[in-house]
Amino acid sequence: MQIVLIEGDGIGPEVTQAACRVVAATGVKVDWVKAPAGIPAATQFGEPLPEETLEMIRRYRVALKGPCTTPVGKGYRSINVRLRQGLELFASVRPVNTMPGVKTPYEKVDLIVVRENTEGLYAGLEHEVVPGVVESVRLVTRGAAERIVRFAFELARHRGRKLVTFCHKADVMRLSDGLFLECARAVADDYPFIQFEEKPVDNVCLELAMDPSGFDVLVMENLFGDVISDLAAGLIGGPGPGGGLGLVPGANFGTRYAVFEAVHGSAPDIAGKGWANPIAVVRSAALMLEHVGRGEAGARIERAVIRTLQAGVGLTRDLGGDGTTTTITEQIIKNLGA
Ligand code: NAD
Repeated sequence: MQIVLIEGDGIGPEVTQAACRVVAATGVKVDWVKAPAGIPAATQFGEPLPEETLEMIRRYRVALKGPCTTPVGKGYRSINVRLRQGLELFASVRPVNTMPGVKTPYEKVDLIVVRENTEGLYAGLEHEVVPGVVESVRLVTRGAAERIVRFAFELARHRGRKLVTFCHKADVMRLSDGLFLECARAVADDYPFIQFEEKPVDNVCLELAMDPSGFDVLVMENLFGDVISDLAAGLIGGPGPGGGLGLVPGANFGTRYAVFEAVHGSAPDIAGKGWANPIAVVRSAALMLEHVGRGEAGARIERAVIRTLQAGVGLTRDLGGDGTTTTITEQIIKNLGA
């Protein structure tokens, strides 16, 4: 089977190579079709997200992606935002669960963050009105709002989840989140067998910090979803820098294409040092295998990751170990067979 591989930059090549090794060790034959993006593509082609990369994903439908750096406030627009918009990858799914063997103050986290991926403040509609005054448009359309909430309910239904929490700020952003909330309520009506609740996003942050165990599926607009994903990752993380970022996988789904990637970024502070934790990308590859009908191999990877964390051998610094990307990858591969 052919799957597009975007290595990205920073720690991207290190962690995606680790994921490819783990996938190969399951026995699933994947013919990786490499596609450029990020700093190497910008240097080589003068374009960080070449059109041919989008074309390859359109052809093969599925991609595994490493993180790509976005310079702050200048240069090119976020590759990730452009990729999600260009391929209509409207839903970002990030399962955040406590991993056995990783000691955190929270023991029972098992939630899924579903984020609208194409609109909101990340729609990229910004302009300077006059020097010193800029405006960003917070785009909400009925179609996209209903689509993402329905996606969250369908996910809950298929995964046996009991509760969907819609996070918003409709009391302040009366028009934009008012519309989103109205859409969420209308869609929730179609799923009387799944519990629905609506909560202001600031309350959600407070409750996540106090006791995240009550949350199940959370659905929200783009910016809130970006922030809540990292917050949730921090709840399940190890003692080292980066918290749980090295553990949380992710997937971006559209109606035709799917791109699997970790929540974390390119981690330029540790790039090239061999310290990157590959688990988030390895678990993203497991989600990818499930998506292409190789769920058993994906489940084997997930079990191997759990065994590796429980054994505590070869772990990277973020997990409190002194191992490297290579040592932890070798442990995961070893534990595949156990
Ligand atoms: P980051 O996630 O790259 O790093 C935050 C912290 O977590 C750093 O201390 C880093 O060392 C640590 N960390 C992250 N992943 C780790 C891993 N796998 N193992 C061990 N430690 C890990 O966030 P940032 O520094 O804010 O972003 C860096 C760049 O990445 C920015 O240009 C940003 O735009 C980009 N980014 C890309 C994506 C993506 O491609 N999907 C996502 C987020 C950020």
